[in-house]
Amino acid sequence: MVEFGKLNKALKLPPDPKELLEDLPFHVGEQWAGKRIRNNDMYVEFGGPKVKAAAELIEFSEEDKTLEDGKLELWGPDFDEIDEGFSYSFIEIITLSSSTLDIITPGLLEGIISHLHDFIEGIMHLNMRNLIWIRIHKSLAKRGIKIEHLARALMGQLKNAFPQIGKVEIKFLIDSAQNPNKTLRILNDDCFYIWEQRRLEALKLNDDEVDKFYGCTGCKYYCPNHACIVTPNNYGTCGVINWKDANISFKLKPKEIFFEIPKGETLDNLYGSYTGVNAKISEFTNKTVKKVNLYSAFKDPQTSCRYFEALLFQIPEIDALGIADYYYKGETPLEINFSTVNKIYNRNIQSPGYRGIALTALKDKKFMQGDGGWKRIVWINKNLKDRVEKWIPDRLKDKIATEEKVISAKKLVEFINKQDHPLKKETWNGTTWILK
Ligand code: SF4
Repeated sequence: MVEFGKLNKALKLPPDPKELLEDLPFHVGEQWAGKRIRNNDMYVEFGGPKVKAAAELIEFSEEDKTLEDGKLELWGPDFDEIDEGFSYSFIEIITLSSSTLDIITPGLLEGIISHLHDFIEGIMHLNMRNLIWIRIHKSLAKRGIKIEHLARALMGQLKNAFPQIGKVEIKFLIDSAQNPNKTLRILNDDCFYIWEQRRLEALKLNDDEVDKFYGCTGCKYYCPNHACIVTPNNYGTCGVINWKDANISFKLKPKEIFFEIPKGETLDNLYGSYTGVNAKISEFTNKTVKKVNLYSAFKDPQTSCRYFEALLFQIPEIDALGIADYYYKGETPLEINFSTVNKIYNRNIQSPGYRGIALTALKDKKFMQGDGGWKRIVWINKNLKDRVEKWIPDRLKDKIATEEKVISAKKLVEFINKQDHPLKKETWNGTTWILK
């Protein structure tokens, strides 16, 4: 096998989208979206729960002159050089000319690129950014699929969808599942850094400063009754789409993904209730949702689709909330593991007490302020808590339990009493906490 971490291939693909999409060993089109590939039918998988590092990153380069349109580089083995049935770490980086930036944002393209993989016959693609999970069907291995074919399909579709896009380069890194030195370094040093900068940029704006919001139906293939409401304080649950992305991109392809929401009157500032949101949400959720509070998980919360970076879930015995990240599978204070919570939670309907969120939400000043914000959070899975610790208010840092000490409601009550959590003595919006 070709060594991981070594440059294996450097190719120049044709610039013309028609030519890029010719003679591929698979069909490409929207009709292939939303498919699943079972374990037994899988030739190989990239990302997903068994690997340590995976990502799809879109970058815009200022160095337009040095970009080479059609450049493809592969570090690590090609599809025909890897072991069938195995999982691999995987990073895909697509670089575009920055001249495209005023019509489309990297965040939106990271959402769209997920669909462009999914439109390929025989390729399953779930989630976005560092949560991606790609499976290649055995039939494609028999037809001789190579990384070049995937690159051609992605570049061709991108150029067809956005003729304004100038030069496109694409890099793939395929690495071992458990010791992915190079992919892990790129994920931690580059991808997370770039996404963090975008989060910080998005946090500069406030819902009170704009007069329109957007709805996103980008996940309609999986969750036909779901639309994310995208506002400066309320990000798409995938963590990829923020208000600025929607605002710029709406002008480009309004009807396909985004719908505009004139904000209208503010009905409740604390909960984030707006007449404009309530007027539009029913239409874009097949009439299943009539009303949404943007800053609450308990009262008329937004629905979630299959893409969320973390899930808020209620802990009924304490009338408070826990948070777990998308890939957490361990125990929770509900006395069931999070995989089960995730299965029970019905994304397609409004479920008070449950709400998918982008991680940026944890940093936002209006974070679930209708429910009491951070004061209402009593449990976070350890990995996530470590990752977002800097965003937790200082006085609450040691008052929020993790699975290391607490995996039952009884233990959680003991923990809260011992740590003197604000739930014990403070009220919010007239609410009397159950433990008070
Ligand atoms: S999670 Fe929400 S914002 Fe992200 S693509 Fe899906 S519908 Fe759009």
